[in-house]
Amino acid sequence: MSGRSVLRRCVTCRTLLDRQQLWRVIRLAQGGLALDQGMGRSAYLCRNHTCLDEARRRKKLQKALRCQVADSIYAALEQRLQTSPSADAEAR
Ligand SMILES: [Zn+2]
Repeated sequence: MSGRSVLRRCVTCRTLLDRQQLWRVIRLAQGGLALDQGMGRSAYLCRNHTCLDEARRRKKLQKALRCQVADSIYAALEQRLQTSPSADAEAR
């Protein structure tokens, strides 16, 4: 037993991962969306281009959260990929 990991499912590829490895998008109870922190319905997404692009194309977040997801949300996540070089670890 090593630590306590909480598994969550990516909305795009349906893979179960430790939630610390996923992005979290939250539909706030008071309205609007937030990343990482907040109270409300949540959707999880792998931190890679494949799942992000697919999610945008197929409106995965919209479906999971049952609300509109502004392009700025996707843009913000894309920005993170560019600022964290370790995100390409999947391409081994
Ligand atoms: Zn995924």
